[in-house]
Amino acid sequence: MEESTSRAEESHDASNVINNSDINVAAALRAQYAIVTPQISRRRHKKPTREEVEEPLIDNTKVLPLHSKKTERLQKRQHRKIQKAANAPADLTLTDLPSETLTEVFRWLRVADVFRMSRTCHTMMDLMLHHEKVISKDIISRRYWTLYRCFPLPVSFQNVPEEFHSGLLSEKRQELLNIHRKSYHQHIQMIDPREVCTCMTCVFAWNNLCLLIDLHHWQHNLANREPIPMIPRGTHPEWNQELLMKNAEIVRLAMRRPLYYAAILEQHLSTITGTILRFSKWKKKGAKAQPRLYNMTDQDVDAGTDEFLESKGPPSYDFPYHRDNYYSLEAYLPNRKFGADGRWHYYALPPTQHERDLEWVRSTLVSAVPPEQRRAQAMANLKDHNVRWSQYLERAQQTQA
Ligand SMILES: [Zn+2]
Repeated sequence: MEESTSRAEESHDASNVINNSDINVAAALRAQYAIVTPQISRRRHKKPTREEVEEPLIDNTKVLPLHSKKTERLQKRQHRKIQKAANAPADLTLTDLPSETLTEVFRWLRVADVFRMSRTCHTMMDLMLHHEKVISKDIISRRYWTLYRCFPLPVSFQNVPEEFHSGLLSEKRQELLNIHRKSYHQHIQMIDPREVCTCMTCVFAWNNLCLLIDLHHWQHNLANREPIPMIPRGTHPEWNQELLMKNAEIVRLAMRRPLYYAAILEQHLSTITGTILRFSKWKKKGAKAQPRLYNMTDQDVDAGTDEFLESKGPPSYDFPYHRDNYYSLEAYLPNRKFGADGRWHYYALPPTQHERDLEWVRSTLVSAVPPEQRRAQAMANLKDHNVRWSQYLERAQQTQA
């Protein structure tokens, strides 16, 4: 038993030895061949950039010197070109021209173009303002000479000699002017006696210029057969008051700035040519073709001058007292009469007519003049004015009726 027990212990020890040796071998193997479990990173590995992978490039290229006859020729040509550009004067603009030349350019333009050109820069504006009188005079004499003689400018009150002031502002004189307030209030702003001379010539001149602007204002309606709004008698709508004030302001401006006066004449020429063309198109059915008023041609319209108005045509003795007259008004050209010699004669040319009227005012209204002398002067001057005043009052009364 003891022997078997000892064998069992031996076998047990032996098995222990084997087991222990196996364990040692496994440990040795584990140490030699370690199993590495790859750890998957949640972050993706960033791909290295090209700059990180590659070495930085160093540019060692150089311009190769060219040596050939063709290259030399090209280089010489380029050199000459650069030198020529360096020696050339700087780019010239219109404002570099002498002022005399620019003024001459202004003189040949239409008034609307003069305004446009003067708005391009300060230099042009200054030039226009400095030479406005000369430019306007040239434009009027070249383009609107007939209209200038039909529509003289009124004289401002401050330019009337002081000796006539009391006569012009007298109550009697203002009573005579009241007729305007009743007759023209719908399409003409009443003249202010402390602003504009109220001699007969200047009153007509003021009314005519205000009328031209108002007539031009309604050309769109007339051309498109749209009725002009009628104003019930005794009413004064706001839109009409504003229009009259605006028209009057332009006339006041024209009295100070000759270019604005020329602009009014230019506008009226446009009104006349447009109306004559319109009348020639709107013929009655079956009516024979008639030559246009003043034999106006298309070339006359394109020329932009009023020379054709010197041809024979109807006189304009009647002042348009109401906007109703605009529908049948083909060309309004007052203050002239066609003579037997085949020419138009103009009788309101400034300043003579204005001066004659002032003399009449003084002789009839200024109390400082002795009665006998006043009567004699009044009788002499009245011959010239009686006819005009009677016609004027008669027409005004007809309108009121
Ligand atoms: Zn006057």
